[in-house]
Amino acid sequence: MEETLRILVVDDDEVDRMKVRRALTQAGVCMELSEVGDGNDALSALRNSTYDCVFLDYRLPDQDGLTLIQKLRSSEIKVPLVVLTSQGDEQIAVELMKAGATDYLSKSRVCSETLAQVLRHAIRVHRAEMQTALVNQQLRETNEQLIRKNQELESQRQQIQLQNFKLLEASRLKSQFLATMSHELRTPMNAIIGFSQILLRPKFGQLTHQQTDMVERILNNGKHLLMLLNEVLDFSKLEGGRLELKPELFDLTKVINIAVAEMRSLAEAKKLSLLVQTDLQNPLVFNDSVRVRQILVNLLSNAIKFTESGRIWVEVKEISKNRIAIAVRDTGIGIAPRDFKHIFEAFRQVDQSITRKYPGTGLGLAIIDSLVRMMGGKIILESQLGVGSMFKIEIPRQLSLPTANDNGSTFHMDGHEIVCSAQNPHQSPFHFSKVSMGFPNLKL
Ligand code: ADP
Repeated sequence: MEETLRILVVDDDEVDRMKVRRALTQAGVCMELSEVGDGNDALSALRNSTYDCVFLDYRLPDQDGLTLIQKLRSSEIKVPLVVLTSQGDEQIAVELMKAGATDYLSKSRVCSETLAQVLRHAIRVHRAEMQTALVNQQLRETNEQLIRKNQELESQRQQIQLQNFKLLEASRLKSQFLATMSHELRTPMNAIIGFSQILLRPKFGQLTHQQTDMVERILNNGKHLLMLLNEVLDFSKLEGGRLELKPELFDLTKVINIAVAEMRSLAEAKKLSLLVQTDLQNPLVFNDSVRVRQILVNLLSNAIKFTESGRIWVEVKEISKNRIAIAVRDTGIGIAPRDFKHIFEAFRQVDQSITRKYPGTGLGLAIIDSLVRMMGGKIILESQLGVGSMFKIEIPRQLSLPTANDNGSTFHMDGHEIVCSAQNPHQSPFHFSKVSMGFPNLKL
């Protein structure tokens, strides 16, 4: 059904109004037509009622069309406006359009066809303008919302940043506390260990069997506590970036044999066989021997701790000329794949309960992980629950040093020739700062 248009004709000339009415009727426009004779009546009609289009005579008795259009616009009355101009008014058309008229038409051209066409066009233009204004308004609102959201996000970001600073500071204080406490506790612990060892020496004096047993327990517990303290101290140093590797040239086979010998009694106490298989054409490496030993002792102590029966074996191989793999395998309880990632995080253990069967700080693997990274190596873990685990570390035979300005000196050790060369890949700035001054980069 065609919509009924509400049309207002504003003209003081009765004949002209009739011409418009007739033309629209002839054009078959379905409408409700109202007519007024001057500007003030037009204003009150438009204030009190809504219209789909207004045909406005430019020359009204009380005001001209331009003044009326300006009044309508300042009253926020939005309606399609077609100004009907007389002969000679064409000059003013541009002004009318600028002021807000939708269209204009010379009275001499008023006929059914033209008027219907102008009417349709004016309504279409007006609706498009309204639509655009609505979209613009929505865009403005969305923009304001976005600005508000942005401000909220910015203030949240600032809060998070502040929290971050606080967390970092808390973490720094925690590390400092750990470092200070473990350092302070180490001194009396060393005294306890030292004096227990003196008490156990035969030349110090004969102890009863019971006394010997008690002193041995003090010594063993002291050593265990010292090991825990050292772990905490190492961890806090690693966290604060204060741990430095001190590379030196050493025989890897010897270091491995020493570490295994250290752990053998623990394995034997649990009736586990402990095997070592070393397959190195060249056993010389340039690395931190203390840290390599520490990594192996830690892996072995875990293997022994988490294995109830069976065996543990260490395999050492050359993967390539400058890369060595040390693997520690066990037939222990194994690790579920979902825990693979977590166990390398500090203080994380598969069993986090306080009633857990296996003691420990949960720092061992985190320390190993950091050390191996510092060495430019990687850890490979293979494990199956109830079957066993394999922790394999792959490290370069020769640690890279930060200042490689050396032009190829040659060293000799145990009959092996060691060529120094300049190469320095990815390395943290704090690594090896102690040795970088004195020891050149070695290629073994
Ligand atoms: P800790 O041994 O002090 O608990 P680690 O960081 O050395 O801490 O090891 C973290 C956890 O990884 C252990 O608590 C254990 O759950 C798991 N894990 C480590 N090594 C083994 C292993 N050989 N067999 C089974 N589980 C292991």
